[in-house]
Amino acid sequence: IPIMHGCNNFCTYCIVPYVRGRELSRPVEEILKEIDVLSGYGVREITLLGQNVNSYNSDGDNFASLLKKIADRIKETKSSIGWVRFMSSHPKDLSDEVIKVISEEEVLCHHIHLPVQHGSTKVLKEMNRRYTREDYIALVEKIRKAIPDVSLTTDLMMGFPGETEEDVEDTLSLMKTIKYENAFMYYYNLRDGTPAATYENQIPVEVKKERLQRVIDLQLEITTEQMKKRVGNTVKVLCESVSRDSEDELLGKTQQDERVAFKADKKFIGSFVTVKIDSLNGNTFRGTML
Ligand code: SF4
Repeated sequence: IPIMHGCNNFCTYCIVPYVRGRELSRPVEEILKEIDVLSGYGVREITLLGQNVNSYNSDGDNFASLLKKIADRIKETKSSIGWVRFMSSHPKDLSDEVIKVISEEEVLCHHIHLPVQHGSTKVLKEMNRRYTREDYIALVEKIRKAIPDVSLTTDLMMGFPGETEEDVEDTLSLMKTIKYENAFMYYYNLRDGTPAATYENQIPVEVKKERLQRVIDLQLEITTEQMKKRVGNTVKVLCESVSRDSEDELLGKTQQDERVAFKADKKFIGSFVTVKIDSLNGNTFRGTML
């Protein structure tokens, strides 16, 4: 469900504010009505979308109050919707109120996609992200304190103009500090019409690729390490499809957006079930339905 359009941030590599214009939030009532319609169809999970959902602002409602109203509506109407997600979240605008409402409302998934883009404060400044590496780490500490089982994912962009080896090391060390469950990783691509496209210190593509590969290799290790910690846990799973490996198995996902395979009848597809995680196979958990 789109809750807002446009962006006011002007990150120096991004074309969005120029092509989609300034932020415009949809009224709360319109969003709630759309949720009612989706509930009528038996929808189980929704994702609230916006370039920066944290700066949602409509008629006195901010993102935290919107989330609370959505959670209340889902409870009042005994809606089919069991999980609510959102993206994307600009770190500079993720408020204490939003963290609090996620920790209190069961329907809000304990998964936050929090794009950091880079681990070097110098590069973040040149990107005009308006937070430092230290601000970001402090925010993550606050989130993890309030929501201990939260899963954090991010976006990482390597090869921004002027990036040095030291900046790359800063990114690798940030990843080791935060230990993201997963990341969307890519290298900087010049976009005509953006300030960064005019910077003279562009990085050669081969160097960008090599730096990106180091980031990907590290994230794969961290993802496995983080997933191994969840083995033995009992989790709520949304059953999505029959597994490709066996007709007797279903594939589902956890609130933290991890894949789980387990023996179960097809009739459970579209339902929430409880699964004990027994092991990890590649990037998919294997479990037992309870
Ligand atoms: Fe806005 Fe995201 Fe683009 Fe930055 S990267 S200008 S926050 S859409």
